[in-house]
Amino acid sequence: MESENPTPIGSMLIAKGALCTIYKKIWISCSHQIIHPSYKGKCSTLHGHNYKVEVWLTGKLGEIGMVLDFNLIKDIVNQYDHKHLNDEIGTTTPTAEVIAMIISKDILLVNPNINNRVRVWETESSYAEYWS
Ligand SMILES: [Zn+2]
Repeated sequence: MESENPTPIGSMLIAKGALCTIYKKIWISCSHQIIHPSYKGKCSTLHGHNYKVEVWLTGKLGEIGMVLDFNLIKDIVNQYDHKHLNDEIGTTTPTAEVIAMIISKDILLVNPNINNRVRVWETESSYAEYWS
């Protein structure tokens, strides 16, 4: 890819417009309850999970050589930490799939030009992933 207007930073040149992928892993603890007439599984009672959330972001480097500040990604995910997801997300079915989609949409609100992939681990063996 051809870079746009390289910016000198010390002795380095940052190729603005160059594509880069960044990754962040965050743990959050939340309660939820899946309430739906056709669902009778374990998650139908009120309980909690320690979710591991992994985020991949691919986009163009900005003025300061970042796709997105890692701390901003952490803040986006942490808004759900120690919250009851049914209330926070506003759904009766806050599944791992839905949580991944909501976090993905939150990231798009900050920067719609970043491709993202959000993986939400509900247990050590189960995750859902959403791409946008
Ligand atoms: Zn659950």
